[in-house]
Amino acid sequence: MTRTRRLLVDPIRCDAHGLCAELLPEMVQLDDWGYPIVSDQAVPAHLLGHARRAVAACPTLALLFAEAEVAQPARSRR
Ligand code: SF4
Repeated sequence: MTRTRRLLVDPIRCDAHGLCAELLPEMVQLDDWGYPIVSDQAVPAHLLGHARRAVAACPTLALLFAEAEVAQPARSRR
């Protein structure tokens, strides 16, 4: 099992400040109203530090980490 982290936005809390997109443009885009569209991909290891900063900087605590255990694919035998 491998632990993965994804980003989630609580749309009730989000006030469309846009800070998350400035801090993590690789994974967050803004829609026409300034609300974040967050990638549904796992946060890659090289972006985890930036993702943590974006989560910590969100002024309304709307940006969250979701952790999941993912089974690794079986390796094929040859
Ligand atoms: S920083 Fe927080 S409040 Fe601002 S757009 Fe991102 S999720 Fe929403």
